[in-house]
Amino acid sequence: MSVLQKTLKGAKVAHFKNTENCESTPMPLPKEVCISMSQHMGPPCNPLVKKGDAVKVGTMIGDSEAFLSAPIHSSVSGTVSAVEEIVTATGSRCQVVIIQTDGEQAVDEAIKPPEIENHPEFVKAIRASGLVGLGGAGFPTHIKMNPKNLSEVDTLVVNAAECEPYITSDYRTIIERPQDILDGIAAIKKYVGITQVKIAVENNKPQAIEMLRRLTGDDPSIEVCSLKAIYPKGAEKVTAYETTGRVIKEGMLPADVGVIVENVTTTAFIGQYLRTGMPLVTKTLTVDGGAVAEPKNVVAPIGAHFSDVIDFCGGYKCTPKKLIMGGPMMGTLVFDDTYPVLKNNNALLAFDESQTAVYEEQPCIRCGRCIQACPYHLMPRMIEKAYESDNIPMLHKLKVSLCMECGCCSFVCPAKRNLTFTNKMAKQKLRAATAKK
Ligand code: SF4
Ligand code: SF4
Repeated sequence: MSVLQKTLKGAKVAHFKNTENCESTPMPLPKEVCISMSQHMGPPCNPLVKKGDAVKVGTMIGDSEAFLSAPIHSSVSGTVSAVEEIVTATGSRCQVVIIQTDGEQAVDEAIKPPEIENHPEFVKAIRASGLVGLGGAGFPTHIKMNPKNLSEVDTLVVNAAECEPYITSDYRTIIERPQDILDGIAAIKKYVGITQVKIAVENNKPQAIEMLRRLTGDDPSIEVCSLKAIYPKGAEKVTAYETTGRVIKEGMLPADVGVIVENVTTTAFIGQYLRTGMPLVTKTLTVDGGAVAEPKNVVAPIGAHFSDVIDFCGGYKCTPKKLIMGGPMMGTLVFDDTYPVLKNNNALLAFDESQTAVYEEQPCIRCGRCIQACPYHLMPRMIEKAYESDNIPMLHKLKVSLCMECGCCSFVCPAKRNLTFTNKMAKQKLRAATAKK
């Protein structure tokens, strides 16, 4: 039996796309930005600036020689006031560059559109732009654009499913920047050698589907795929399967089945970057939740403190009970609003009391709903038991490492068991045991 079945499951979560008609609006320049050196999957960057240095918009301030990395650029012009460590949302430590803005927003003289003739130059330019997956994963884009089996990759899947509740920033990209998306697609087709493109959109966004079909109707190599709006249609393996029928098995990458999956805003950035040469220095994020006075889509300089972003949204209308970076299903809780906007930050949710009910776990009633809901047909309750009894061979057998922590199993469990969290811990336990071995 394959990992992904013919009938992919998932959960019917409420969409709460309250901000879908809110145009992306740039926030005023804050007095200070705090730019993290850890904004991508892989080792963090090393700061290239020190206290007292002057920087401009687009100045490179961090880089790394590690394979899995992407450089980091200043989002403002001003003066570096500190290079120091902060505790991240996950409890680890990372370096940040703090810059006091001068209000000028002078652009670095080195910024100019890249000159690209071939695939290696395209990959080099994408790396220089600092681009990472903007849908949340933060995977460096230049690595995706340079798969080992390049000649076998024939399909680009543009992921515009945006299945997490509340988040509408990708939807706004489609409505506001369709030409950037088309330019990004054209560049990837040309330099990576792609022959077919699938744009995946959930069917709760009919205006986006209609617009994309109208704009791509003359191009037989591009298909706009309307996906049933069941969470998590935007998960990479799920989107790839739903649009191409190709199964990405355990341990495989999309390129292993000839596919590159790229988030729609990431694709739009490529189109914009090739035209302007401005690296990734701003991020559009959906700001919503019961504690936010005026929910909206905000274009923020990378490194803006969440408190400044919230102020632009009218501040808090009550004390938030929970601050989430990302969506409610897969986002990360943050402990306070001093934390900065990151490249892969697509939402900031401030939930009030009514949105943060905590339920007590009850004994499992063996209803099987968690298995039915899992897109990968894992067995979350069995994983929980194997985790609790330290049964490493069983965790391996149950393929816990496939779990993408989508939250569907916990969402549907009538006993309110915290299965997703247990899966996360079980993955760590299995990894540690494997490393020890
Ligand atoms: S969190 Fe993991 S086990 Fe639970 S439904 Fe998602 S993929 Fe399946
Ligand atoms: S959904 Fe909850 S109650 Fe039902 S089998 Fe899974 S863990 Fe048990």
